[in-house]
Amino acid sequence: MADVLYIVVPCYNEEEVLPETSARLKEKMSGLIAAGSIAENSRVLFVNDGSRDKTWQIISQLHDADPLFSGLKLSRNRGHQNALLAGLMTAKQYADMVISMDADLQDDIDAIDQFVARYYEGNDIVYGVRSSRATDTAFKRGTAQGFYKFMRLLGVDIVDNHADYRLMSKRALEALSQYSEVNIFLRGIVPQLGFPTAIVTYERKERFAGESKYPLKKMLSFAFDGITSFSVKPIRFVTVLGIVLFIFSLFMLIYALITKILGHTVAGWSTLMGSIWMIGGIQLLCLGLIGEYVGKVYSEVKRRPRYIIESFLNEE
Ligand code: UDP
Ligand code: MG
Repeated sequence: MADVLYIVVPCYNEEEVLPETSARLKEKMSGLIAAGSIAENSRVLFVNDGSRDKTWQIISQLHDADPLFSGLKLSRNRGHQNALLAGLMTAKQYADMVISMDADLQDDIDAIDQFVARYYEGNDIVYGVRSSRATDTAFKRGTAQGFYKFMRLLGVDIVDNHADYRLMSKRALEALSQYSEVNIFLRGIVPQLGFPTAIVTYERKERFAGESKYPLKKMLSFAFDGITSFSVKPIRFVTVLGIVLFIFSLFMLIYALITKILGHTVAGWSTLMGSIWMIGGIQLLCLGLIGEYVGKVYSEVKRRPRYIIESFLNEE
């Protein structure tokens, strides 16, 4: 008996791409089922992340017309990572392996065959890695590359050029479900799970319709979340900076006292003003950084649900 595959697709205002995406996924799934690689009750699970357009209507229609399509509706928009998590946690109850991918088909769906093959070879996690970023703007490419480097520098284990296109086995998903943090950054957590893993490379394409749901603001907050959720190095950096500045200020004090004794008190007004501003700025920066972590702790201790499911359409 072949294993059951669920493909989880988070969707936020994706009415423009869903008809095409569903058609392409149906073709792919039918092919895999016919070849005997996956079980007949495999499904494509669309997660509606509180879309404000016709996304949920389209998902319901797809489900009514074809049991291959399942739908999960979140009660409101919770962001890509939470929507993905909701889908993964729901799918793991029915599936042996789950693949997550974006609704816009930027990730090559033909890589799915290789994902499944690697899974049968005994891998619990298969990462989809982009072989090139030729279709991304130079800006997105540059910032993404910088982000991966910076994350590595901070000691976060993260797979280069891997977005959230990956396969996970039931076992790996069970392990993932034990991570109960509210500020979830899947790309950082999954490599921590362990298990046999493999990599499949593919070409990333351009979005064929609609526009990116990740404007610069969301991208930056995502990167910032990733860093502060996984590394305490920024805090340590603040401490070290504080110590260095303190020692420096002691020398400055001695210097100031000596100049006073020698009687040249008026000189040095500009350096004084400069350092007041500089230290003030650094202090604010550090306070802000500490506040970030306090805020994280605050949201973690509340243990609020990461998503709320409004309805679930699934043909078992
Ligand atoms: N998405 C989501 N909730 C959000 C934002 C995005 O579920 O609040 C989904 C979106 O529908 C898509 C995926 O996350 O399937 C990736 O978004 P997008 O393609 O816009 O990001 P990009 O590829 O530009 O980084
Ligand atoms: Mg995209």
